[in-house]
Amino acid sequence: TKWVYNFGGGSAEGDTSMKNLLGGKGANLAEMASLGLPVPPGFTLSTDVCTYYYDHGETYPEDMNDQIAGGLKEIEKLTGKKFGEASNPLLVSVRSGARASMPGMMDTVLNLGLNDETVEGLAELSGDRRFALDSYRRFITMYSDVVLGVHHHIYEDILENHKDTQGYMLDTEMTAMDWDSVIKEFKAATKRELGKDFPQDPMEQLNGAVDAVFGSWMNERAIVYRRLNDIPAAWGTAVNVQAMVFGNMGDTSATGVAFTRDPSTGENRYYGEFLINAQGEDVVAGIRTPQTLTKASREKMEEDLPSMEEALPEAYAQLADTFETLEAHYRDMQDIEFTVEEGTLWMLQTRTGKRTAKAALKIAVDMAEDGQITTDEALLRLEPASLDQLLHPTLKPDAERDMIAMGLPASPGAAIGEVVFNSDEAEALKKAGHKVILVRVETSPEDIHGMHAAEAIVTARGGMTSHAAVVARGMGRPCVSGAGEIRIDYKAESLTVMGRTVKKGETVTVDGGTGQVFLGAVEMQQPELSGDFAKVMKWADEARKLGIRTNAETPLDVQTAKDFGAEGIGLCRTEHMFFEADRLGYFREMILAEDKEDREAALAKILPVQRDDFAAIFRIMEDRPCTIRLLDPPLHEFLPHSEADIESVAKSLGVPAGELMHRANDLQESNPMLGHRGCRLGISYPEIYEMQARAIFEAQKLVSEENGATPVAEIMVPLVSSAKELEILKGKIDAIAKEVGALEYTIGTMIELPRAALRAADIAEYAEFFSFGTNDLTQTTFGLSRDDAGRFLPDYVNQGIMEKDPFVTLDQDGVGDLIHIAAERGRTTRESIKLGICGEHGGDPASVEFCHRAGLDYVSCSPYRVPIARLAAAQAAI
Ligand code: PEP
Ligand code: MG
Repeated sequence: TKWVYNFGGGSAEGDTSMKNLLGGKGANLAEMASLGLPVPPGFTLSTDVCTYYYDHGETYPEDMNDQIAGGLKEIEKLTGKKFGEASNPLLVSVRSGARASMPGMMDTVLNLGLNDETVEGLAELSGDRRFALDSYRRFITMYSDVVLGVHHHIYEDILENHKDTQGYMLDTEMTAMDWDSVIKEFKAATKRELGKDFPQDPMEQLNGAVDAVFGSWMNERAIVYRRLNDIPAAWGTAVNVQAMVFGNMGDTSATGVAFTRDPSTGENRYYGEFLINAQGEDVVAGIRTPQTLTKASREKMEEDLPSMEEALPEAYAQLADTFETLEAHYRDMQDIEFTVEEGTLWMLQTRTGKRTAKAALKIAVDMAEDGQITTDEALLRLEPASLDQLLHPTLKPDAERDMIAMGLPASPGAAIGEVVFNSDEAEALKKAGHKVILVRVETSPEDIHGMHAAEAIVTARGGMTSHAAVVARGMGRPCVSGAGEIRIDYKAESLTVMGRTVKKGETVTVDGGTGQVFLGAVEMQQPELSGDFAKVMKWADEARKLGIRTNAETPLDVQTAKDFGAEGIGLCRTEHMFFEADRLGYFREMILAEDKEDREAALAKILPVQRDDFAAIFRIMEDRPCTIRLLDPPLHEFLPHSEADIESVAKSLGVPAGELMHRANDLQESNPMLGHRGCRLGISYPEIYEMQARAIFEAQKLVSEENGATPVAEIMVPLVSSAKELEILKGKIDAIAKEVGALEYTIGTMIELPRAALRAADIAEYAEFFSFGTNDLTQTTFGLSRDDAGRFLPDYVNQGIMEKDPFVTLDQDGVGDLIHIAAERGRTTRESIKLGICGEHGGDPASVEFCHRAGLDYVSCSPYRVPIARLAAAQAAI
């Protein structure tokens, strides 16, 4: 078996298509090498090795070591250096690289191959003994920490002590002699901690590092990250061993990270940071303030330090060329790591860059409009669920505000919440229903759970590519990084900034788009839906086959959904209309009525109010179809339950409390969800449904007289399980229609019980449309209470019994089968029967895709999910 894949010197054994085998980093290094870009030579140990390692009790395939030796030979040939040879040593980096990028989650070792002898060789070759020793001490620290398990604090303390005794402030004040003595102490410390010497044999070092990187696939933070990002543990990681290049060889050397476009806004300009005379990790760690890449961004940010364009013009020109090559080749924005070694550019990584939803949208639109990609490709590149971030409010420009800090606009969006200073607490408070803002000096991979729980993240240190910034952008959390004036006192659980103190629990507002932090809650405004957003939605509408409707009943929701592009109402739940104060009284009267006559008297009072409700909706929807569902929940939901409530309601209705209590008890059911609800109410009390039908028809006439447009009224009967129920109720509704002289209307039913799905052929005799109520259909198919299942469903997901919560993502096997059956059987009776879905699944991208394949006519979802459904429907159709 082939375990090792070489790259470098203008060719490679792998390419981008081999991402599963070589990991993202390895596959792209290979691809870049083949493109002729300057990539330090190296080799990749495939993810198959990782799989083997965990399947075989953490051991390796027998023939792997020979292949590694072969890989090293190749590197030696290309670099002219030799691994472990004192006079001309080859040094390598050992890095992880999984299929999906997991920034900072796994281990890395740099400068490997250094020992007491090779360090002298490096000193001679570079003509800089101080540099060689600096590399060696970095290696000892990193290797001991990552591979040998000796905490890096031990080495940092030694260094700090040494600096103190010498009276130094900065590492740069350390001389070669200083480093010599610190290295001695480092090695002594390792021996003290481990009882053996720091390994001098480069091969032993390499094996240790490979072990550590494969081992880090199963470390705690990698496991958490995989869980949050749906990355299967079975994928494994690859390991990349690559010749070292040095960004810390003086003032013509540098290291940096860059994006070919702005990952925050999507603007088409190079974007990045670099540090002169530094090694890779220094940029991400946020210890020194990085410099800008371009002159334009330096000027824009009013930085004093020169940009790379100014400081290293030749290397910058090479870099800009490389950006162009990479974008043209990958046809997408790239996220790049590079090093400049004595004026020469080296590429260490490229990958498709993570970006905010806003940037994703802009980049997709720009590239499609430039003809780099098709509009279909542009649509496929957008994550439907991420559109949600664009639909939410931002700070109102003229709202009052009290700014307390300013940092970098690391990830856009605005959020309000209580300040917390640690991640465990952020998570706990979130669970308790609080909205929190996580404030840290800087974040590390140990903070991901807290960042996930927070509405927004603020850090005092770190740049635009710091851990906090990168992770927040990926999660879609607003983030302000590097707010340097903030002093955090973790012990006192407070921060001070410009003489003001903010304690844990105080409310702040964060604007990740501007980098500002405000004390208190700042007023928000609705988002901008024109521009790129409108373009993408138009492309989506052209591509999709499914209609998109909304579940809405209040005029505000109906209007929002229409603005978001809803083509009709797929579910208007009329019960919500009864909960408002005035009508609740009438409705209770109706429930308490002794006989039909009293009931009708009470209903007559509700009729005009209901008519107004429907008229308001029809006015907004103009000629778009509106599916209105007749009353669904059991009547007892409308009665008061606590003694005090009963007392006060009885008083206002003018009935004895005892009577009210009696009636409430009467209506009590053991399983109300399976009880006297839905069309069963219509069977027992037809006058309720008749009143509602009358209100609908009258409102429709009213509005059509007002503005000429006639919304088709689609009257929907809930919880039908047999054709007979619908036959009876349809008869009553038709009779009212005749009486009122109704305009255009249809009658249909929800399919939300398994029996209804199975008997769809009979039911379709009386139904002009079916709307799948997949909330109840999931509940009744699984026999799983939709109100209680949340308590134990995580066990089912964790144990792999269910892949996802079936109330969130449609169970395509079981519930999906019933949908297929009902659609097919319904169509045998009525070929043109209209089919839709109005359960929560109507706004879930994976479920929308299912609905497309199942041949439904439309999906209906809550207003804010309408754009998501439009895009998901387009993606399903492409
Ligand atoms: C459903 O059951 O899927 C549905 C849309 O109705 P409700 O959620 O109101 O029960
Ligand atoms: Mg239902």
